[in-house]
Amino acid sequence: MTERPTVFVVEDEEAYVEALKVGLDKEGFRVEVARDGAEALDRFDDLQPDLVLLDLMLPRVSGLDVCRELRSRSRVPIIMVTAKSAEIDTVVGLEMGADDYIAKPYRVRELVARMRAVLRRSEARSSETEPPAEASGHLGGEDDSAVVVGDVSLDHHRHEVFVRGAEIQLPLKEFDLLRYLMANAGRVLTRDALIDRVWGQDYVGDTKTLDVHIKRLRNKVEPDPSSPTRIVTIRGLGYKYEVPERQR
Ligand code: CA
Repeated sequence: MTERPTVFVVEDEEAYVEALKVGLDKEGFRVEVARDGAEALDRFDDLQPDLVLLDLMLPRVSGLDVCRELRSRSRVPIIMVTAKSAEIDTVVGLEMGADDYIAKPYRVRELVARMRAVLRRSEARSSETEPPAEASGHLGGEDDSAVVVGDVSLDHHRHEVFVRGAEIQLPLKEFDLLRYLMANAGRVLTRDALIDRVWGQDYVGDTKTLDVHIKRLRNKVEPDPSSPTRIVTIRGLGYKYEVPERQR
């Protein structure tokens, strides 16, 4: 990251734009502004911002669609801004892959704290080494970007997952969740650990999100999603990625 991280503010309310320009500049951010969703998508690739602050209600292309599109292009941290806090639950439920949510009206100080938290997590993500995973079969000694457990393989540098030889497409959070489960195959991971790891410690949604993601993963990974043998539930604790016997 540069000395002054660039935050891409996608916001159509002039009062917020002006306050953010001043407030975030003071906090050491470089601020770029797009005033509608289409402009945001047009300029994103050139700007390569460190973080996107994305209003939900935007002219031309909605914040939801902008978020989905950005997620298909990039892992850039995204903070979604909703008009009222009641909307956050709905938006979280849509699973667009934003990293955090904040409701208007918000204080710049609170926003900046969240921005820093999201940036820290994203830096940790990009500089992290794989967690130890003796139980699973890493491909090769040097390249730890790929992990193979049983009939599923995942390469996080290439963002590829193969299930029984066929490539499947996973949204970012499902990918991160599967990656963490597989990297720790054979171990029980608690619900809290999974949520912290995949959504971050200051996650504001409810914990049903985890179950929804597990269910989606099972539908893509399990030979029979109704009786899972890969991603198993450990009642009262969490989940475990099962290591097949021949690989133990
Ligand atoms: Ca708006």
